[in-house]
Amino acid sequence: MKFHHTPAPPKSGVELYRHSYGQQRLWHFGLTMIVMGISFFLYYLGLFGRVDGPLNPSQLGEHLAALGVSKAHIMIIVVFLTLLSLTWNWIYNLASFLRGKRLTCSKIDTRGYVCGEPVGRITLTRRKNSKRIRRYLCGEGHKQAEAHFHAVKKGTVGHVVWMISVIFTFIVFYASY
Ligand SMILES: [Zn+2]
Repeated sequence: MKFHHTPAPPKSGVELYRHSYGQQRLWHFGLTMIVMGISFFLYYLGLFGRVDGPLNPSQLGEHLAALGVSKAHIMIIVVFLTLLSLTWNWIYNLASFLRGKRLTCSKIDTRGYVCGEPVGRITLTRRKNSKRIRRYLCGEGHKQAEAHFHAVKKGTVGHVVWMISVIFTFIVFYASY
């Protein structure tokens, strides 16, 4: 994977405003459509108890009981899935950082551009006191004490999934009492 960290060419204020405004509108529209679509789908499956579908809480309980699945199982599963949908990127980021992945060179050249090449962690031993020090080495041969870490952030789908998980958890707990 390659990351580049060269500064973007400057944009005029109007251009920047139009760009971000249009993107925001599109993002909100897309998100609304996804949430509405999923809500309608769940509604017609009877999840909210208004329609006589397979996910209607009153029937769902009976179906699951017939399968030998208890309410406690369902509660544990929905809570687990909710926690997972909230924390997957933090877990991934921590694992990536510990393995020295998703790191790029932070060397700044004379023109003010950041190198941005992928780096690997190396351990050097000082001759004087044989103390071990950690450095980040990139393909260009830069040895830096620090490197940029590129954390994975949740995208639109990631946010929608955790929101649905939370709603689902509420429904399950509500239906259980
Ligand atoms: Zn470099």
